[in-house]
Amino acid sequence: MDKAIAQLFDLQGWIVYRTEYKQDSIQIYVGRPRKVARCPECGKVTSRVYDRARQWRRKLHTWCNEKPVYLWVRPRRFQCTGCKKVFTERFPGIRPWARRTERAEALLLQRLKANSFRQALPARRLRRLARSNVQAVVRQWKATLP
Ligand SMILES: [Zn+2]
Repeated sequence: MDKAIAQLFDLQGWIVYRTEYKQDSIQIYVGRPRKVARCPECGKVTSRVYDRARQWRRKLHTWCNEKPVYLWVRPRRFQCTGCKKVFTERFPGIRPWARRTERAEALLLQRLKANSFRQALPARRLRRLARSNVQAVVRQWKATLP
């Protein structure tokens, strides 16, 4: 079942701990199987886990039958055995501090552009918009509102 979930929501390579089906959303608790991480400061690979985030963090990931699908992650913190710096585990497809996965951003962008801009913007600005992130698109979209 969890394998099917992983496949359905493009989570290959993740561990799916638990899936909750709510009335208005799907919540998937996930983590990474890798036991090591690379220090962003000096590049050394370390396996020394310093601690783990106290709270699970919610990331919008995709939609299923119009219901939002959220990932819940609880990143580990590693301590580099080289430079001793403590750093937080990074997840593929999720930028640090982002509240959405890159997949969700891409889907949001597609929707926003399809629905909001086709009529409103000239082609040149649409092309420029295609390279920008959700925040920029939302800004542009607001700017087109009367
Ligand atoms: Zn280091």
